[in-house]
Amino acid sequence: MKLGCIADDLTGATDLALMLAREGLRTVQTIGVPRADLDLSGADAVVVALKSRTIPAQDAVDQSLTAAEALKKAGARHLFFKYCSTFDSTDEGNIGPVTDALLTFTDSAFTLACPAFPANGRTVYKGHLFVNGVPLHESSMKDHPLTPMRDSNLVRVLQRQTKRSIGLVAFEDVEAGPEAIRSAFDREKAAGHQIVIVDALNDAHLRAIGLAAANFPLMTGGSGVAMGLPAAYRQGDPSTVPSPSTGFDAPTGRSIILAGSCSSATRGQVKAAIEAGMPALRLDAMELASGAMTAQTALDWLKTQPASGPVLIYSTAAPEEVQAVQGKLGRMNAGEIVEKTLAEIAKALPDLGFARLIVAGGETSGAVVNALDVDALAIGPEIDPGVPWTRSLAGIDLALALKSGNFGTPDFFLKAWTMLR
Ligand code: ADP
Repeated sequence: MKLGCIADDLTGATDLALMLAREGLRTVQTIGVPRADLDLSGADAVVVALKSRTIPAQDAVDQSLTAAEALKKAGARHLFFKYCSTFDSTDEGNIGPVTDALLTFTDSAFTLACPAFPANGRTVYKGHLFVNGVPLHESSMKDHPLTPMRDSNLVRVLQRQTKRSIGLVAFEDVEAGPEAIRSAFDREKAAGHQIVIVDALNDAHLRAIGLAAANFPLMTGGSGVAMGLPAAYRQGDPSTVPSPSTGFDAPTGRSIILAGSCSSATRGQVKAAIEAGMPALRLDAMELASGAMTAQTALDWLKTQPASGPVLIYSTAAPEEVQAVQGKLGRMNAGEIVEKTLAEIAKALPDLGFARLIVAGGETSGAVVNALDVDALAIGPEIDPGVPWTRSLAGIDLALALKSGNFGTPDFFLKAWTMLR
């Protein structure tokens, strides 16, 4: 394994895993610290998704070190600490304390911090972070409920979180390429700095930084700065250059979509699938609440459906209907009833011969992977931006696409299957 990554939240982990997979690394994402018995021998990169962004600093440090130990044991040669591209943190942490602990863990005295992600409008110039051209402290991040960002100068922000001295490798050095960046690292080290904020305004900068820092035992940043690492690892070893992926190996079995999202993109996708003639069963939240409809109703329905094509089970409803249901059942209670039913259905799917599964909805996906006991995923090709096919590792063999509610084109439920071999 070349790279072991520790991400401070789940969607950030997926973001990074996709970036690495796109750049040609065989990438596995685990939800939480990987189990000791998980076979990671086929992975070039492993991304551990923690939920440590806003927990107390000492807990974040402890969890990150546990993840680092597991990754090191699994053979990781380099570590990457991934945080948000808006540098979400408070003066108490957690970016500084976790970086400190991982520097000590890797027995190294120098690393960089670069949250830049130009494709998403996050750039760093002279150490100042911009969000779509607006200084961080003037962006909507200034009012974030948990991590309000009121200072755009990341040298200052990070310095408040650590006793280590913070330096800066600015635009001029980055623009001049990997050699100049390496010299700038040496200069900053000689000046006594142990962590440097690095400027980046475009992908070429990120790739140059990746080349310059590929040998660091520890790197920190957003997923953008990981962009250059796969190419850097391949230097001198062209055998590992990936061929463009034309499909994704999936287990054989029936195909199903479970949609628990009521977001507008999902509503359009449900409509398009039904219009295309896909067999579909609607779960009615009120009937689920009264017991008139249960998971068993859906399972009985599934048994009567043709095994040849995908089928759809959805609770997806229009905003007025969701509001009416929430008015009667309560918002949380309504959500839980639907999630619980979809999870129960999911649990029974393998025994009915289903092995290919699309889940629509963030919370719904969490409930479904929990029910199926899936805690590690091999990342495959992207179906639409932000949504890859994945394959479960350990436990039941499944091809899974976990779709955030508002992601994907209207024909997502129809086209996704064509990528599976
Ligand atoms: P998204 O990614 O679109 O936010 P989520 O799955 O995260 O989707 O959230 C949708 C929530 O709405 C879930 O808790 C789900 O159980 C709930 N839900 C789904 N269908 C209905 C419905 N018909 N009425 C009320 N709540 C629903």
